[in-house]
Amino acid sequence: MCRTVAYVEQNQGVARNLKDFLYFYLDVGIGLSIVLDGKIYRGPFGISGEIGHFIVDENGPSCGCGNRGCLEVFTSIAAIVRNARKFIESGVQSSLHNQEINIENIINEARRGDKLSYRLITESGERIGAVAAQVINFTGIPLIIFGGRLKHANQLLTEPIQHIIKKNSLSVLSQKLEMKISSLDEWAGALGASMLSLLEIIQ
Ligand SMILES: [Zn+2]
Repeated sequence: MCRTVAYVEQNQGVARNLKDFLYFYLDVGIGLSIVLDGKIYRGPFGISGEIGHFIVDENGPSCGCGNRGCLEVFTSIAAIVRNARKFIESGVQSSLHNQEINIENIINEARRGDKLSYRLITESGERIGAVAAQVINFTGIPLIIFGGRLKHANQLLTEPIQHIIKKNSLSVLSQKLEMKISSLDEWAGALGASMLSLLEIIQ
């Protein structure tokens, strides 16, 4: 999904004409597409950019991959919704009470000033930022595009990400930091998948 959306982004979205960028897909899972010199890096086995499984806390909750404390178990939409339910059930005050707990409502309530919702989104941003800083240092690419449904949190998410990147990445790179929000809708993944399969057929 992540690569196919990056492909569409490169062709029709905010990454048009960009040669080197990092595409962070923030949704039920967390993924990264690395675009180098205009080409999506796939790796020799078709596996790359699995930042959702970067271990950020060895003592953290278990992840579907078999390890513990992966980025995804803290920051994915599934994790944010799960944590919101947990806090509400334990009696934490929140305007999320008496409404369906989903990412759209959590983002809306965070914007309205609900402390719990705000905390869930900004803490996710901080964790994503910590990993993004390492990825920027590793690749030398300070241009990030955010896609996936979590992008709808806009500055609530990008501000903590930016703060941590500026703090943790090499200043020569963080000075050049540029972050963009994907302009594409959620259907872009499906479109990208069909475009990529078409390319494979005609190449
Ligand atoms: Zn994992």
